Amino acid sequence: MKRILYIPFDHLHRDYGVLKEASAATDLILLVESARMVTGRPWHPIRLYFLISSARHFAESLRAEGFTVEYLKAPTTIDGLETARAKYGELPIFSAEPSSTRQYNQLLDHGVQFIANDFFLTPRALFREWASSQKSYLMENFYRGQRIRLGILVDGREPRGGAWNFDKENRLPPPKNYTWPAYLEHSPDSIDHDVAAELDIAAPSTWATTREGALSQLAYFIEHHFPAFGPYEDAMTTENWALHHSLLSPYINNGLLHPSEVIDAALAAFESGRVPLPSCEGFIRQVIGWREYVNGMYWFLGEDYRTENQLGATRKLLPLFTDSTKTEMLCVKESVNGVEERAWVHHIPRLMVLSNLALLTGVNPQEFLDWMRENFIDASEWVMVPNVIGMGMHADGGLMMTKPYISGGSYISKMSNYCKPCKYDSKLRTGENACPFTTLYWDFLDRHQETFAANHRMKQQFFGLKRLSDLSELKVRATQVLQALDRGEI
Ligand SMILES: Cc1cc2nc3c(=O)[nH]c(=O)nc-3n(C[C@H](O)[C@H](O)[C@H](O)COP(=O)(O)OP(=O)(O)OC[C@H]3O[C@@H](n4cnc5c(N)ncnc54)[C@H](O)[C@@H]3O)c2cc1C
Repeated sequence: MKRILYIPFDHLHRDYGVLKEASAATDLILLVESARMVTGRPWHPIRLYFLISSARHFAESLRAEGFTVEYLKAPTTIDGLETARAKYGELPIFSAEPSSTRQYNQLLDHGVQFIANDFFLTPRALFREWASSQKSYLMENFYRGQRIRLGILVDGREPRGGAWNFDKENRLPPPKNYTWPAYLEHSPDSIDHDVAAELDIAAPSTWATTREGALSQLAYFIEHHFPAFGPYEDAMTTENWALHHSLLSPYINNGLLHPSEVIDAALAAFESGRVPLPSCEGFIRQVIGWREYVNGMYWFLGEDYRTENQLGATRKLLPLFTDSTKTEMLCVKESVNGVEERAWVHHIPRLMVLSNLALLTGVNPQEFLDWMRENFIDASEWVMVPNVIGMGMHADGGLMMTKPYISGGSYISKMSNYCKPCKYDSKLRTGENACPFTTLYWDFLDRHQETFAANHRMKQQFFGLKRLSDLSELKVRATQVLQALDRGEI
C-alpha cells in the first residue's frame, strides 16, 4: 500500500472525492466510525442509523470491488487515522476537503493532504469570488448566475419560459380531494438490522442506506412527484407528511447521490415533456440555488458565524421541541412528531413552524441550532448553520435574509389544514383561544421595532402593528403564552 484514502461519512460516492482516482493495488481505503460521532451528543437514532449503515454498506461495496478497506471504530476520527497508520506504516493520508471547518482544521493539523471537495457544483473559491463582489448576498442573484454558468433552463443569458421564477404558480395551499402517491419503502437488509439493533431501534423503511436505494428514491421522485413538485412545495397537510418533496437531502448530503446526478435526472424528465416548467424550475432552484448558496455562505462567513445572536435571544429551548406531547398547537405537534418519527420534515415546517416559533419566542439561536442539528437526518454543520442562524432565526442581523421569516397563524392557516381542528384560532390574537403564533407575531414586532425600523421591506408589517387597538391586552396575553410555552403547557 502506498496511500491511505480517508473517506468521511459524507463522501460516499465512488466517482467523486479521493475515490475517483483510487487504485485497489496501492490505496488503502479508511472509514472511521468515531465514538464522538455516535455518542457525543443526543443524536436522533434514525439519523445515526442512516449515516452508519450507509457508511458500512459503502465499505462493503468497495471491498466487493477489490479494495482493501479498513472500517474502524475509534474514540475519535484522529484516533482512527493513527490506528491505520500504526497498522500500515507511515503512509501519506489523502482526503477530499471535509465539509465542516472543524474537521477541515483537525485533519489539516494531522497532516492529511486534501484534494478539492467536488461534492458540490460550485467550487468554494468560485463562491467566494461571487460573494466578495456583492453588496448584499441575495440568493436570487446567485441563483440566476448559476443558471447561466451551468447552462440550465436558459437560452443564452435569458431564462427559459421568460421568467426566472414561478412563485405565483408554485405557492398553492394543499389541494382538496387529492390522492398522494404512496411513499417509497426501502427494505432493510442484514447490515441495516445490525446497525438498528446496536442503536436499539427497529430498522426504518423510509430511508435507504445504499447507492441503489438512493437511486431508486431519485427515480421514484422523478416519476411520481416531480411533475407536481412546484404547486405544493410550500403546502403542509395532515394527509401526507412528504407531499411531493423528493426526500433526497440525506443522500445528496452523505454522497450517495451527487447533485449533478439529481439535476441530470430532473432535466431529462423536463426535456421529455412530462414536467411543467414551474415544477422543474422550483426544484432546480433548490438544488443549484439554495443548496449551493448555503454551502458557499458557510465557508464564506467563517467559523464565528454560528455564534451570532444579534437579536439577543436568551430563552431556553422550549420543552415542546423535545416532546411533542408538550403542546396542543396542532401545526407544532405534527411537525415535532414528524421529527420524532422519521428525523425529517419538509422545508416549510422547518422554516414557518419550528424556526418561526423559536424566533418569535426568542429561543437562543445556538440552543435551537443544536436541537435541529441533532434531530434531522440530513443535518450537517455546513447546511444547518446558515439555514438556522441566517434563514430561520435571523440571528445574523440580516446578512443572509433581508427580513426575518416570521408569520402569525394566518400563513399557517392558508398553507395547511392544521388550523381548522386546532384548539387555537389563527385569527385571534388575544384571549385563551388565540393562536400563539398570532399573538407572538405582533409581540415580536413590538419588541423589535427599533431593530427593524429602517427595514423598508417590513414597512407594511409595522404599519399593521400601529393600527392594533388592543396592543396592551395583546402584550399581557403574550407574556402568558411565553410562560405557558416555557412550562410545556400550551
Ligand atoms: C431551519 C432550516 C433548517 C434546515 N436544515 C437542513 C439540513 O440540515 N440539511 C438539509 O439538507 N437541508 C436543510 N434545510 C433545507 C430544506 O428544508 C431541506 O433540504 C429539505 O426539506 C429536504 O427535503 P427534500 O430532500 O425532500 O427537499 P426538496 O424540497 O425535494 O428539495 C430538493 C433539494 O434541494 C436542497 N435544498 C432545498 N433547500 C435547501 C436549503 N435551504 N439548504 C440546503 N439545501 C436545500 C436539498 O438538497 C433538497 O434535497 C433546512 C431548512 C431550514 C429552513
